[in-house]
Amino acid sequence: MMKRTRISDLLESGQSGHEATVMGWVRTKRGNKNVAFIALNDGSCISNLQIVVNVADFDEEVLKKVTTGASLRINGLVVPSPGQGQSVEMQATGLELFGVADPESYPLQKKGHTLEFLRSIAHLRPRTNTFGAVLRIRHAMAFAIHKYFNDNGFFYLHTPIITASDAEGAGEMFRVTTLDMKNPPCNEKGDIDYSQDFFGRETNLTVSGQLEGELGALALSQIYTFGPTFRAENSNTPRHLAEFWMIEPEMAFYDIEDDMDLAEDFLKYLIRYALQHCGDDLKFLNEMYDKELIERLHLVADNAFIRLTYTEAIKILEASGKSFEFPISWGKDLQSEHERYLVEQHFHKPVILTDYPRDIKAFYMKQNDDGKTVRAMDVLFPRIGEIIGGSQREEDYDKLLRRMQEMNIPEESMWWYLETRKFGTVPHAGFGLGFERLLLFVTGMGNIRDVIPFPRTPQNADF
Ligand code: ATP
Ligand code: MN
Repeated sequence: MMKRTRISDLLESGQSGHEATVMGWVRTKRGNKNVAFIALNDGSCISNLQIVVNVADFDEEVLKKVTTGASLRINGLVVPSPGQGQSVEMQATGLELFGVADPESYPLQKKGHTLEFLRSIAHLRPRTNTFGAVLRIRHAMAFAIHKYFNDNGFFYLHTPIITASDAEGAGEMFRVTTLDMKNPPCNEKGDIDYSQDFFGRETNLTVSGQLEGELGALALSQIYTFGPTFRAENSNTPRHLAEFWMIEPEMAFYDIEDDMDLAEDFLKYLIRYALQHCGDDLKFLNEMYDKELIERLHLVADNAFIRLTYTEAIKILEASGKSFEFPISWGKDLQSEHERYLVEQHFHKPVILTDYPRDIKAFYMKQNDDGKTVRAMDVLFPRIGEIIGGSQREEDYDKLLRRMQEMNIPEESMWWYLETRKFGTVPHAGFGLGFERLLLFVTGMGNIRDVIPFPRTPQNADF
């Protein structure tokens, strides 16, 4: 294959006067019987390269097949562009058609499509401006996450995807089994006999890498995980997926204050990285979907987050005089409407809430002396609500064991977790950032199904 120049490189360098080869997909073709203009996109950036074709120089039959969606190789001379908004264009000297796209059936014609329709053609939607932008930003954020942690002395720990610990309590789990569903082996009591299953016990897809992450942190001091996470919660909302990606740093010798400092610094770093490296894509999304996107990103990157306790937040919500869909009082979990009220209407800034009632939080969170609350912290963002959930962990063996017993967590299956509190236990903390929630915020998209290439939600596992 002839060496290909990426369209982003051509446009960025702005140099002209040389020959180059580009390959990509036709976005539009227009012109007259003498000259045709092809807008070619290769996914390297949001911009198309304008190809100018002198019709007389090419086979008419081939040119006829150059329609929206067709794939091409073009050789040509790079020349300064007389048009606005692009540095260079290409004067075609050679054209090879890789594949046609029949205008009668190719679904991505020029007209604007709804995001709902594009979900039904997820195999083709990466070729739209919107999904090109989202997928490039998704890549940039993944890269920035690794860069941030690597630059700050964290180690990337790979935690298992198949797990036998169902103790996290974060949500419903997907079962992993090789048993014959029609005829599963049963024990005397008539229950399914998982000792005959592949792993000799019940296993599920992980809901969080945290417990194993703690094992890593209690040896390497600072680790992070970044992998797929699965929750079979039947919540059809614009903020929940059944399969999503989570980033979970876990740090030894950290208390909850350190944990909040890290969360705030990390989020601001990622947002600044997007502003610096994804300018064209953000500008497009700002124009198309959310006129306040870039302004909001700056607002979050440049202002200190508000920190207050859950108890203080409840007082604000109760005094607000708002009638929420879910009435709120001390002891209840905040719904996204409450979180968004605090952020969008009360403080106008991201908020970190701490010290939640222990009864609505997981067993491993460090217990406060009041006997009622735990050292949890949630970061709440405009438009999103909860973007991060974290805590200082209970490092005291006796307190942890007592809490597990109170909450009916099977301690036998968690012996390895408990042992870390027996052997060289230390204060430690961590948090989980939902990657797609971050992307919702950074891209300004409204539905989490539109920030992951192939979303998995209840009743949908297409593509
Ligand atoms: P929520 O209350 O919003 O459902 P959660 O409290 O169940 O979230 P955690 O268990 O704290 O979530 O998970 C850590 C982070 O993972 C959340 O802060 C959020 O960013 C993200 N997250 C949780 N569940 C989902 C989901 N179903 N789809 C996408 N991201 C999720
Ligand atoms: Mn949470």
